[in-house]
Amino acid sequence: MKKTIFEKIILREIPANIHFENKDVIVIDDINPTAPIHILIIPKKRINTLNDLTDEDTNLVGKLFQIAKDMAKKFNINESGYRTVFNCNNDGGQSVDHIHLHLIGGRLLNWPPG
Ligand code: 5GP
Repeated sequence: MKKTIFEKIILREIPANIHFENKDVIVIDDINPTAPIHILIIPKKRINTLNDLTDEDTNLVGKLFQIAKDMAKKFNINESGYRTVFNCNNDGGQSVDHIHLHLIGGRLLNWPPG
């Protein structure tokens, strides 16, 4: 399977602004931010889409949200508010086939999204 852009970042084959990393997860700035804070919380395990989650991924997905919460505090948007999003497949706007949780904030976000 061809490496995703995120696997290349995890392997340091391409650069990224890394905010946090542990054995399971890496957190980077989105290269094309849609808000003052737009970071990506990415599991190191390659899971193509949310449709591919299995029972063994339950803890991992929970950790992504725990890290999102911590990052929201670190970037001081925990009180003002923020959004966490997983996009899935074409209609959901997924462009990288490696699940990742977007953390977006630092401005008033529109709802519903387009
Ligand atoms: P998706 O559209 O799949 O939900 O989100 C993929 C995100 O990855 C997009 O917001 C896009 O801007 C970001 N992205 C794509 N390529 C790169 C890259 O090379 N580096 C970083 N840091 N982000 C990327």
